Amino acid sequence: MRKIISLLVAGMLAPLLAPGTVHARPVPTGLSALTKNPIYTTGKLPVRSCPEYAEEIPDYLTAENYLREGAECLDATWTSYFKKAKLPFRTPSMEFINKSSVKTRACGKMDGFWGGAYCQDTQGIVVMVDGWMLEYEGTPFLFYVLAHEYGHHVQHRAGIVKAHDKLAPKDTQKAYRWDARLELQADCLSGAFLRSIWTSTGRDSYDWKELLTYIKEDMGDPVHGTGKSRAAWTDRGFKAGSPSACNTYKAPASQVA
Ligand SMILES: [Zn+2]
Repeated sequence: MRKIISLLVAGMLAPLLAPGTVHARPVPTGLSALTKNPIYTTGKLPVRSCPEYAEEIPDYLTAENYLREGAECLDATWTSYFKKAKLPFRTPSMEFINKSSVKTRACGKMDGFWGGAYCQDTQGIVVMVDGWMLEYEGTPFLFYVLAHEYGHHVQHRAGIVKAHDKLAPKDTQKAYRWDARLELQADCLSGAFLRSIWTSTGRDSYDWKELLTYIKEDMGDPVHGTGKSRAAWTDRGFKAGSPSACNTYKAPASQVA
């Protein structure tokens, strides 16, 4: 008798829930979204075959195709990861441009020196393939930038961006250091993703070291953290192959400068 009742209850509840939401948990909020997020405890990213579109990327067209193929791999990996974490997910929109004067759908017009952007209101990623982005020939630099921006989308979907913004300090210098935790986490998520597809790219440890050297030398600034910290967190994610290594909100201040 008890069995029949539970079956009936299940039958009545099912139509109230949209498909795919049955097992989802609410998106975390507040400090626990930052320090105890489910993405830290869902395990390694699934290993996937994602051969790079080209070894040399001499021009914008090659870069665009390279990034499109990479975006498909990122979509597949993070969609399955969020399913495992029981968090709702949708893939971000993607735009690739080659002039900073272009008005983008996701982020509007953005001036200044930049290579990639994520805009949470539209959940859109923009990568600007300016000349300097193609200077890191022989390394997966473009893929690292794309996976970093995708990392921000992951943070947004996991409730991290919202909680981060809410808890941001008012003081400018303190706010920089606070933002570095978000940015270094995106680097770490990028590294974890690159590890999950690394074997299929046929790249070796020399390529990885070279990428880390470029990040260390060129990618430091007050908001994102020093080049040394950025390289260290990217490598941390890569070594673990898992977002479990990316809890920058629990790291000592010396590691997130
Ligand atoms: Zn960023």
